[in-house]
Amino acid sequence: MVPPRLDLKSVGVPTGRRTQAQELNDIMRQIQHFIDGEFTAGSTGKRFDKRSPVDNAVIGSIAEGGRAEVDAAVAAARRALRGDWAALSTDSRVAMLYAVADEITRRFDDFVEAEMADTGQPAHVMEHVFIPRGAANFKVFADVIKNVPTEAFHTDTPDGRGALNYAIRQPKGVIGVVSPWNAPFLLMTWKVGPALACGNTVIVKPSEETPNTAALLGEVMNAVGVPKGVYNVVNGFGPDSAGEFLTRHPGVDAITFTGETRTGTAIMKAAAEGTRDVSFEMGGKNAGIVFADCDFDAAVEGIFRSAFLNTGQVCLGTERVYVERPIFDKFVAALKAKAEAVRFGRPRNTGANYGPLISKAHQQKVLSYYAKAVEEGATVVTGGGVPEMSGALAEGNWVQPTIWTGLPETAAVVREEIFGPCCHIRPFDTEDEVVNMANDTDYGLSTTLWTTHLARAHRMAARIDVGITWINSWFLRDLRTAFGGAKQSGIGREGGVHSLEFYTETRNVCIKL
Ligand code: NAD
Repeated sequence: MVPPRLDLKSVGVPTGRRTQAQELNDIMRQIQHFIDGEFTAGSTGKRFDKRSPVDNAVIGSIAEGGRAEVDAAVAAARRALRGDWAALSTDSRVAMLYAVADEITRRFDDFVEAEMADTGQPAHVMEHVFIPRGAANFKVFADVIKNVPTEAFHTDTPDGRGALNYAIRQPKGVIGVVSPWNAPFLLMTWKVGPALACGNTVIVKPSEETPNTAALLGEVMNAVGVPKGVYNVVNGFGPDSAGEFLTRHPGVDAITFTGETRTGTAIMKAAAEGTRDVSFEMGGKNAGIVFADCDFDAAVEGIFRSAFLNTGQVCLGTERVYVERPIFDKFVAALKAKAEAVRFGRPRNTGANYGPLISKAHQQKVLSYYAKAVEEGATVVTGGGVPEMSGALAEGNWVQPTIWTGLPETAAVVREEIFGPCCHIRPFDTEDEVVNMANDTDYGLSTTLWTTHLARAHRMAARIDVGITWINSWFLRDLRTAFGGAKQSGIGREGGVHSLEFYTETRNVCIKL
């Protein structure tokens, strides 16, 4: 059933007395831009529907931004950059970011509901990972900016009096944040947190699939008194829409992007105009490597999570699994049993633990790879289709967790990022063989490696061409560490001091003594 889309003001609901829940409902139905501290429908008059991934019912109507909205957001961000935001001391800014994190925590349930509505993923993923990490993204980078020193050198001079060189950090300016749909709040705040901590102002272009939490964050910013124009959101699509207008805008000083590699290529071209700096976190085709000496149960659980969490929609996820031959059959059987035990259902259904894909289009893409695997000669160990769902859920974007074996390394499903709940498992015999296979890809984001052999773990970690290697773990993150991809998985590193490198300009001051 399609819920009515009501403008509460137009039907006489006294907006002054609306409860927070009603406000949330309002935002979920009528998602606006957030520009200069105000929610606005903008001037294009264009809107598009937000559909629920679980049943494809229309659950929201999103304002589509055009050039005018991007211009207004850039103007607001530039005013704030030189005005109220710049006027704050670092201490005050840090305190404000702590207040943002606390307000997110206070409105935790609203964020969980908003993100669940957008993604259809189970409540526990939102409650334990995505929303807490969103709050942490503000506190951690507030701490980093407060505690990381800048360099200083004493320099010898011919007259013997010397000189002092020291660095100061200045905000880079107005940052364009273009984010994806797979972990919307976590990934967006991972950029907004450090950008604001460093004194920049931001314009976020959330994914057209998942605009809710970016809008809610606007409420949080106003509630804690973040100056107008510091945080802005313009909704819309990519090409010839808000995404492209933002990344081409000369008033944007740097762009941080998370999404597909081919989108990154387009944004890089846009950023070349004006030689703006970019930070890119992009696709992956990550390898999971399991040695026979591993803790078997832990390895099965770890690979299961890395291949199937969030319905496989995780950039760090594992779509290629290599298992040492002596335990290959046992491993495939154990992973199959876990994949077949998932229970599909709505996010709040306590009997369910598995969600749908984000959209019909993405479901079709993933299913096309399921068909291609069969054409390419795969043995389908489990899955390969759509689970049987009843009632309204039959309309949702469900797919079965899928495991293949028997394909050559040249097969499309072994080479291309699918971004669904699927993996190909292949046996290996030697370290050299598995290193070569793991590295034989255009991507280089992450690896998860399972072994109890300490020296081998270090050896392998140094040889695999990725931004992060997890040993006997997966998705265990410390936000102070470098994060990013090698090869076509990214440009630059963020996290801890690395974020400061991107979000500030380091200036050197040289004083002759
Ligand atoms: P996407 O590239 O389709 O879209 C990401 C964002 O870019 C969206 O907001 C979209 O509207 C915008 N966009 C699209 N075309 C644009 C253009 N020409 N100019 C400006 N903006 C444009 O990615 P997605 O489908 O939303 O997300 C899935 C992808 O993200 C996967 O490839 C995944 O691996 C990757 N990802 C990477 C990381 C990482 O940390 N490396 C994290 C999460 C997701």
